[in-house]
Amino acid sequence: MPGILYIVATPIGNLEDMTYRAIRVLKEVDLIAAEDTRHTKKLLTHFGIDTPLISYYREKELHRTEQLVARMLGGESVALVSDAGTPAISDPGSILVRETRNAELQIIPLPGPSALSAAISCAGLETNSFLFLGFSPAKSAQRRKHLQPLVSQTHPLVFYESPHRVRRFIEDALEIFGDRKVLWAREISKMYEDIQETSLFDLANRIENEKVRGELVIIIHPGQTLQPQGETIDEILLWYRHESDFSLKDACKKIASDMGLPRSDIYQRALEIWGKQNNQHK
Ligand code: SAM
Repeated sequence: MPGILYIVATPIGNLEDMTYRAIRVLKEVDLIAAEDTRHTKKLLTHFGIDTPLISYYREKELHRTEQLVARMLGGESVALVSDAGTPAISDPGSILVRETRNAELQIIPLPGPSALSAAISCAGLETNSFLFLGFSPAKSAQRRKHLQPLVSQTHPLVFYESPHRVRRFIEDALEIFGDRKVLWAREISKMYEDIQETSLFDLANRIENEKVRGELVIIIHPGQTLQPQGETIDEILLWYRHESDFSLKDACKKIASDMGLPRSDIYQRALEIWGKQNNQHK
């Protein structure tokens, strides 16, 4: 009998999220193909699993796939795991799946943790659909090119991000999408889990001078990009005053960034204009 390929989801933080079935299958297969064998070894030790491990990472995908398919054809069963979550979602695995199917071998997925489904499940989406985009390009120019066509999308957009790139991602997203509603899901299932609904602008402000730790999923909701009306700075300041919930400080910051002007100049003018309006209302 030829072997089977099992695609096994593993915890994204909390080890209690490991399923009974995942433990059983990882014990029963002949071989576990893991993205990082040292990382997976710790998980296996925790659950008392001593099945042999073989590395299966992005750079080795093609070569390893050949070997693994040959072993399955020879009768061995293989479980594929990634460092965390569901393999083949922004993780290696797709090539092995494709080639296993080409070889007419059976593929069995073991459902379980994924940062994608966890974040979506607590986003309170207003639609039944969303667009999963995984990681955006690391370089700003490419990232902007990647984000720009998404402005008119009517589906919520789901991104994976790493802590050291997230600030620049949010800055670019704010510039391209304008101030949209966002779900920020950090450290899901871990001790310092931090899941909040906020706006791109507030988020950009919050993390401007803060070191972000941990892994993140960011969901940008669809919406009309808020376009301030007005020809002059005074008109735009008045628009923010009457038509938006922006504080004076945030409005100045946004205008300064939109128009490439010094924030202090806008702030000075805003004090005069908003101040005048306050006096008129007294
Ligand atoms: N295949 C995995 C899955 O199913 O979730 C994703 C692997 S991808 C290489 C890693 C990215 O997933 C991280 O950069 C982050 O965007 C997201 N991620 C993984 N664990 C997370 C967690 N505990 N909280 C929030 N995001 C997480």
